[in-house]
Amino acid sequence: MNRFGYRLSPSSQIDLDVSDNSLFRQILAGEPGISTCISCGSCVASCSAGVFDKISFRKALHLLEAGMDTEAVALLEGCMMCGKCTLVCPRGINTRHAIVLIKRKLNKG
Ligand code: SF4
Ligand code: SF4
Repeated sequence: MNRFGYRLSPSSQIDLDVSDNSLFRQILAGEPGISTCISCGSCVASCSAGVFDKISFRKALHLLEAGMDTEAVALLEGCMMCGKCTLVCPRGINTRHAIVLIKRKLNKG
């Protein structure tokens, strides 16, 4: 007999009152511009390494803010530090500098 039905997936709810986003706050101190990000995605669309790797600075910021550091860093692993995302950011955020700070904090670069 075929199995039928559905099962509940684990909750992906993030409780911002208890999540530890200390890394995000450290990056914010070094690169205050990230607080002005409007999530437009221009940095992702223009990423030089985007065709080779799964890179998303925009999503990484959201994950860091939610305290999901490991997942955030995984989205920046393939970054070549070219700085193109910084050139296109409409808010003038030094995204490259923020990525350097993130990698430095976690000894990834
Ligand atoms: S281009 Fe700038 S404003 Fe747009 S998502 Fe990226 S960091 Fe945020
Ligand atoms: S600095 Fe990194 S994230 Fe930004 S465009 Fe270059 S490879 Fe992509």
